Amino acid sequence: MIKTSAEVRQAFLDYFASKQHQIVPSSSLVPGNDATLLFTNAGMVPFKDVFLGAESRSYTRATSSQRCVRAGGKHNDLENVGYTARHHTFFEMLGNFSFGDYFKEEAISFAWGFLTEVLKLPKEKLWVTVFEEDSEAEKIWLEQIGVAPDRLSRIGAKDNFWSMGDTGPCGPCTEIFYDHGEEIFGGPPGTPDEDGDRYIEIWNLVFMQYNRHADGTMEPLPKPSVDTGMGLERIAAIMQGVHSNYEIDIFQGLIRDAAALLGCNDLEHKSLRVIADHIRSCSFLIADGVMPSNEGRGYVLRRIIRRAIRHGHKLEAKSHFFHKLVASLVEQMGQAYPELVQQQAIIEKILRIEEEQFGRTLDRGMLLLEEILDNLKGDTIAGDDVFKLYDTYGFPADLTADIARERQLKIDHNGFDVAMGLQRERAQQASQFGTDYNEQMKSDHDTRFKGYTNSSYSSTVVEIFKD
Ligand code: ATP
Ligand code: MG
Ligand code: MG
Ligand code: MG
Repeated sequence: MIKTSAEVRQAFLDYFASKQHQIVPSSSLVPGNDATLLFTNAGMVPFKDVFLGAESRSYTRATSSQRCVRAGGKHNDLENVGYTARHHTFFEMLGNFSFGDYFKEEAISFAWGFLTEVLKLPKEKLWVTVFEEDSEAEKIWLEQIGVAPDRLSRIGAKDNFWSMGDTGPCGPCTEIFYDHGEEIFGGPPGTPDEDGDRYIEIWNLVFMQYNRHADGTMEPLPKPSVDTGMGLERIAAIMQGVHSNYEIDIFQGLIRDAAALLGCNDLEHKSLRVIADHIRSCSFLIADGVMPSNEGRGYVLRRIIRRAIRHGHKLEAKSHFFHKLVASLVEQMGQAYPELVQQQAIIEKILRIEEEQFGRTLDRGMLLLEEILDNLKGDTIAGDDVFKLYDTYGFPADLTADIARERQLKIDHNGFDVAMGLQRERAQQASQFGTDYNEQMKSDHDTRFKGYTNSSYSSTVVEIFKD
């Protein structure tokens, strides 16, 4: 029986291995070959140069379970965490890839075979979409696979033309959705209620045909290729008979442990879900060499850590709790990711330092924020206030926005940017060296970060401990 996340992952890799795919281990979350990308956000990222024809491998078919982070840049799901049943900042993407080998027909029939024959999902639960101009894919679904016409829809480029980032490989796609049942709100893809959580997208098959350049032009790839991605947590939820990803095995362990640490009895509390999500992304990012900092990737990491700490505060955390969850994560995922086990002590140490640091200002920042909210007229927190929380108490703007959203309020992003700009000018005037620490504070797009190699952990950490 295929039920646990580990069993689903293994069944996927075995299936594609049986179809002559090379099993390739997950790459780092820090893309090694790509200065245009913040984090590895899809299974195809490590193969980007193979798609572009700039690199060749000894195989033309590959399969992987790739760790991904979507917390900045083009694919950013940070704001969805805690609000949908299906989004994480960190998740695993199961994928199969053809580098100029098979194309639409095989890609579609492999995917259908895995879902209906290996996992034995009922066909009437599956819905599909194709890119509106792709009659070829539509024909394969209707005529060769035999999908009922009323369960297929044609969708525009927003959802069915996939690209990794603003530049790079891209192409039309076809997606497979699972119907979680009528008791859940939502409509099939392409209908007005599609944003509900009833029909959940599980698998995206991308027909990689173009390389998009910075000026927007699209050049055909040397060979049409295939890139597919299926969220492990989403398909595991289906196999475990639950609706939300947060109810699957891996998350239940984390949520139980977080609840015990925080003395919270409500296992469905949104903050527990957010914390369980964030411990995964934060731990894996650190394991891959990202360190909390005030710029680039490190600042994205710091923002996620602070959001988690704030959710702990909301649950009235009595002490530093976040780093203690690393042990729980290692228990859930250490077998699949031995690097987590190896790095456990360092991850705990870095998270604890971040907790101590932010813990010093969090209480006072929250007091100020409550005061601001008490006096608020209208529904928007002024940019100057958001800036003050940021500048004096270390509240990243997105953290303040997260709190505001819980109370149906907004923040004035533009006003915050203006206040930030003014401070930057002051800092530049004050410093003959022109060091501008705020330059990258808000940026999701910093590409100059050099990354860390495994061997540089110790020296990096020493630096962090010094300041
Ligand atoms: P959605 O529309 O649900 O946000 P997506 O279209 O952005 O998903 P793709 O870029 O097509 O997702 O990625 C391929 C697959 O990866 C998705 O079909 C889904 O199963 C999974 N996936 C995407 N984003 C997430 C996420 N934030 N958390 C968990 N799984 C995800
Ligand atoms: Mg998405
Ligand atoms: Mg989608
Ligand atoms: Mg998609």
